[in-house]
Amino acid sequence: MTRQLEGLGVVPGIGLGFLKVLTTDLTHAVHRYAAGSPADEASKFTNALLAAIEEIHQLAVQAQAAGQNDLAEIMEAHKAIAADPELAANISEKIAQGVAAPQAVLAATEEYAAVFSAMDDPYLKERAADLRDIGRRIARILTGAGAIDFGGGPLILCADEIEPSVAAAMPAGQVAGILLGQGSQTSHTIIIAKAQGIPTVSGLGTELETLADGQQVLVDGYSGQVYINPDQSLLEAYQNKLASEQEQLKQNSLLAELSAITKDGQRIQLAANIGRPADMDNALKQGCEGVGLFRSEFLYMGRDTAPSEEEQFAAYREVVERCKGALCIIRTMDIGGDKPLPYLNIPAEENPFLGFRAIRISLQRPELLLTQFKAILRAGVYGPVAIMLPMVINGQEIVQARKYLRQAMTELEQRGAAFARQVQFGIMIETPAAAVLAPVLAEECDFFSIGTNDLVQYTLAVDRGNSAVSPLYSHFHPAVVSLIGNVIQAAHSRGIWVGMCGEMAGDPLAAPLLTAMEIDELSMSAPAIPRVKGVIRKMTVSDARNILAEVCALHDAEAIRLRLSDFVQELEA
Ligand code: PEP
Ligand code: MG
Repeated sequence: MTRQLEGLGVVPGIGLGFLKVLTTDLTHAVHRYAAGSPADEASKFTNALLAAIEEIHQLAVQAQAAGQNDLAEIMEAHKAIAADPELAANISEKIAQGVAAPQAVLAATEEYAAVFSAMDDPYLKERAADLRDIGRRIARILTGAGAIDFGGGPLILCADEIEPSVAAAMPAGQVAGILLGQGSQTSHTIIIAKAQGIPTVSGLGTELETLADGQQVLVDGYSGQVYINPDQSLLEAYQNKLASEQEQLKQNSLLAELSAITKDGQRIQLAANIGRPADMDNALKQGCEGVGLFRSEFLYMGRDTAPSEEEQFAAYREVVERCKGALCIIRTMDIGGDKPLPYLNIPAEENPFLGFRAIRISLQRPELLLTQFKAILRAGVYGPVAIMLPMVINGQEIVQARKYLRQAMTELEQRGAAFARQVQFGIMIETPAAAVLAPVLAEECDFFSIGTNDLVQYTLAVDRGNSAVSPLYSHFHPAVVSLIGNVIQAAHSRGIWVGMCGEMAGDPLAAPLLTAMEIDELSMSAPAIPRVKGVIRKMTVSDARNILAEVCALHDAEAIRLRLSDFVQELEA
């Protein structure tokens, strides 16, 4: 019998596939782990330990083969620690006392890690992180967390929340839909799903816990409806929707060749947001004019060490070449917030979105920033690139980052490597501080890109990932609209261009406002490009200015959204 669930359609589209329940969050997986008798747990631990040692061995072999000697050495050291009989004895003792194997592993490795942490010798201190890493690896094997087999698609992935690193590893074409328990609209997993056009429904809550692997599921990302084991009549009814989706895709491909230009000639560049080179397939299909945001941090995720200069260079070069002469803006690593990176060993934080993230990490770990700058500069030989800094709050950060950019150039010069000397250097305006200081910051850079996802959360004090407050999260809040208007004016009055790369840029309702404010570029997830382009092509600048004047007189986000919705509906009719 068909069962129906209702959530929030956050990525439009229809998906049909077989359910795959993910348990990637280790804490959650350990919590849900069903322990057996001490004898069972002891044998599971022995098997998991052997599997972990083999996994680490393979990583060491691969690193050696790739000439990554440092990594190979680290992996060899991990192997030795994992094989230490004293550690195994400690874990076995805990298991014998009735502790479940994953908890015993995490507790024992933490005990040893705490001893190393307290040492004065910096080398020994660092071994604490190795121990924790090994503990997590064994616990992941025991619980099955993170070991995702993407084979046998089309899959409908289902989880309370999916870590961005897992989402970034989804192979194109294998995932037909995503179901999430959480209700956020701008989480990074949803952003990745959007880039790939994977129909997604969020906010399904605890209903998801009743679902099981292998069930056939129909996902309607337009309405937020989810059908478990859909019957024949439902499947047939959805054939019509799929046919009209195909028709829409055909229309979009016709639009892809055209520019985003108003009826009276104001042109806005429409670029794509991407998280990995493969996202360029869809971006080009939808007619992007370059890349306005390459979220480079996804290159750093789902692995045990930071990507080398060569690895980054290969990824950036591929994207730059595929931009075919249009600008490719690469944002420096934006780790932190909802994108943790275990191997950077950043201590847990009370408020990660207000903590050690983005440019703050890059400036304190210059070896990471220098490697990234060198890779970007080298990719710049193959087409125009720009560098963009995330989470800036003051001019000092830009000055310091520029100093490292010069150092990266000097190092490349000394090596005799080919690199671009002229790269645009810009910042994201995603903190209220940067928005208010825009006139000052404009003196330090070549362009701004407004990151509304964070700007909204910081301006309204509304966590972008918390479904309990998501009704308050709106890029049409008058305070946000006013900040955006001021930033655009500040940039233009100082002669620099300004774009937007937060989700607002891909909202067709926002296009009239941003056109009236004379934004120069809008960068969005690829599937959003055709509709935004269609809206821009159907209006004049004076239409846009009139509606801007109207909404500026409204003092409520929902009233503004409704007025814009009427306006856009009339345009599209
Ligand atoms: C933003 O904050 O608007 C943005 C584009 O960056 P991210 O969503 O990656 O935080
Ligand atoms: Mg951001």
